[in-house]
Amino acid sequence: MQRILVATHNKGKLAAFAGMLEPLGYDMVSAGELGLAEPEETGASFAENAKIKAQAAALASGLPALADDSGLCVAALGGAPGVYSARYAAGDYPAAMQRIIAACEAAQEWRARFVCALCYAQPNGEAATYIGQSDGVIAKTPEGSGGFGYDPIFVPLGYQHSYAVLGAAVKDVTSHRARALAQLVSALRG
Ligand code: IMP
Repeated sequence: MQRILVATHNKGKLAAFAGMLEPLGYDMVSAGELGLAEPEETGASFAENAKIKAQAAALASGLPALADDSGLCVAALGGAPGVYSARYAAGDYPAAMQRIIAACEAAQEWRARFVCALCYAQPNGEAATYIGQSDGVIAKTPEGSGGFGYDPIFVPLGYQHSYAVLGAAVKDVTSHRARALAQLVSALRG
């Protein structure tokens, strides 16, 4: 069985990756379990940050490593907060969501997109990056209590409710992370 290191300390992400890759015969171990330090995310794009994290983890562990970087890009904010999505919230998602809604209201521009870059790196430095995105609009008021982060204000295209209302059944198929992971899975299948 091929072991893959998932460069995350987030148990939710580990479970999502394991759910897709274990059926293919991969055994997942997390950076948290191996006590690896998390490198600083100094990249200017999702792809750069995913690569920094995956290559650092592969080098430190000697195992193939998987890392992702994701965020919300809001048209009314010129694509921000983007790679700064976590920092933009600074731990207060209700306030951050209200700032985003106010910016969309002012610009009368509601389009937004979740983006996820997934990088699979080898200990020898080789790396492949897959990008998934989910297009949608910002809701005029937050709705729902499921999910995490900006889910209560993101309504994916083709739906009338936010990811926080729609839940895992819809998100597992349409989300930026699911789409990037699907590309990795088909590449691993060969
Ligand atoms: P990271 O990929 O763990 O660095 O996440 C970056 C930020 O993007 C976090 O602040 C999340 O709240 C936000 N984010 C990424 N994906 C999602 C999602 O699926 N739903 C809601 N927020 C997300």
